[in-house]
Amino acid sequence: MRMSKLLMPTLREVPAEAEITSHKLMLRAGMIRRLAAGIYSYLPLGIKTLQKVEKIIREEMDAAGAQELLMPALLPAEAYMASGRWEVFGASMFKMKDRYDRDYCLGPTHEELFTQAVIDNVKSYKEYPMTLYQIQTKYRDEGRPRFGVMRSREFVMKDAYSFDTSDEGLDVSYKKMYDAYCKIFTRLGLDFTIVDADSGAMGGSGSQEFMVKSPVGEDGIAYCEACGYAANYEKAECIPQPKEADAEEKPMEKIHTPNVHTIEELVSFLGAQPYDFAKTIIYKADDKYVAAMVRGDREINEVKLKNLVGCIDDLELAEPFKVREITNAEVGFAGPVGLNIPVYADKEVSLMKNFVVGANETDMHYKNVNIGRDFTPFEVADIRVVEEGDACPKCGKPLKTAQGIEVGHIFKLGTKYSDALGLRYLDEDGASKTVTMGCYGIGVTRCIAAAIEQNNDEHGIIWPVSIAPYEVTVIPVNSKNEEQVKAAEEIYERLKAEGVDVLLDDRNERAGVKFNDADLIGIPLRIVVGKKCGEGIVEYKPRRGGETEEKTTDDAVKSAVSFVKGNI
Ligand code: ATP
Ligand code: MG
Repeated sequence: MRMSKLLMPTLREVPAEAEITSHKLMLRAGMIRRLAAGIYSYLPLGIKTLQKVEKIIREEMDAAGAQELLMPALLPAEAYMASGRWEVFGASMFKMKDRYDRDYCLGPTHEELFTQAVIDNVKSYKEYPMTLYQIQTKYRDEGRPRFGVMRSREFVMKDAYSFDTSDEGLDVSYKKMYDAYCKIFTRLGLDFTIVDADSGAMGGSGSQEFMVKSPVGEDGIAYCEACGYAANYEKAECIPQPKEADAEEKPMEKIHTPNVHTIEELVSFLGAQPYDFAKTIIYKADDKYVAAMVRGDREINEVKLKNLVGCIDDLELAEPFKVREITNAEVGFAGPVGLNIPVYADKEVSLMKNFVVGANETDMHYKNVNIGRDFTPFEVADIRVVEEGDACPKCGKPLKTAQGIEVGHIFKLGTKYSDALGLRYLDEDGASKTVTMGCYGIGVTRCIAAAIEQNNDEHGIIWPVSIAPYEVTVIPVNSKNEEQVKAAEEIYERLKAEGVDVLLDDRNERAGVKFNDADLIGIPLRIVVGKKCGEGIVEYKPRRGGETEEKTTDDAVKSAVSFVKGNI
């Protein structure tokens, strides 16, 4: 491609709308432009990279035996109503009506439609196992679209669905996708971690996420360097390390704690430590109320709690008037003793001795409270957020924590959708059985942003060769020097003939401008044709950490070809 013809509106200034590096660089490199909140157009450099990412994904999906098809994005409501997700998606689903007042949505994910497609088109058990996939645009009306294509409202996803006649079959299909994902993310040049993920209260027997560690990631992950355990915060567990678990139980005492509402206030009032307390939080879980208890210095993991309670909607903190009604006290004095709603206590709390809790009476607390003697929880389970340094649930060594960008998610669905929609098969003996499913997503456009987050410097993007919009750029220093222009053209043509994706910077610009643009848009290799071109010498410089080397034209072409082929 000749840069004089390339639509590449690079920006010198950092656009005000962008907070994170990848978003800034995608805008500055002229890859994308914003049309509305969370909605982006891809310009030529953007689409080139997007297509390369798609190609890698397609190759690995095909190699794993998955078949590509393409579903519509505009979808009738029926299947989503049958699965219950018309309601579950709530405000994040783009819904609309057609001219006959029929309900439609823009597909946020396609489990229902693929299930329906198999019901409609697969006639014999002999056709299973089967994995189908598509690379397609998804729509989610995200509460907080941000970070450019990282969390957008229209984005490209690769979604695959496996269909098996047994759980063992599902395990095999799942493992194939797992392996394919490892190959894909490696080929995309991403440094990734695979973590155990929450599979929700509603069916599903296992789920893993592919995370790219990055401070801008929106998911927390906990991992153990000693044994390799890794999990999303939503799921991560640890071994409780109780303080004074063997202490002798003291008599419970009610104490007057005027104007003490928070743990911090209580700590200074009683001269104790946060771990001497257990906090009790009241939640609304669908149409009932429950209490959850964790140690004073811990946080409740609302995903774990939701799964335990088994509610449909996300938990919400109980309204203050409800807290007053349930506890007979002002907010801040809730406690488990005598409380008449189910109390879910964290494992760690169950190992504490002689601790302080609210007394369900304004300005009052109990001290020396002991579980079993003074109250009995409805259920004891792990309901807290793990923290850096907690003991690994597998090996007991201290856990580390990091932020991660979720680029992929694989999920054993089981029979949730096949049951809801009626996907069954007749086995050899003519008995009717349910098909078991898995689903497997990759955030195609998010991968681009993640790759930039991991590969950049102060000058711009440093593309992994596999997804660079162009692999090599050839730059004549002086575009008015005929000898240089001719030599650059020649190198450009030779590289093209070798199948290299090459740019020729034939613009009538200063050399500095050309170099800056090449760095900004992240081209992995640059060949500069300057003063020594008369002697057949050019400059050769890899974008990543490379020194400039002088090479003969022939050598530069050969090296460039092997650099590109060796890195794809
Ligand atoms: P998140 O937790 O980030 O909202 P999710 O778990 O809801 O994502 P999935 O339903 O698992 O997403 O979708 C599969 C993949 O699609 C995700 O792993 C992610 O890479 C990508 N993805 C999801 N939502 C978005 C979005 N709003 N913008 C870009 N990519 C997205
Ligand atoms: Mg997910």
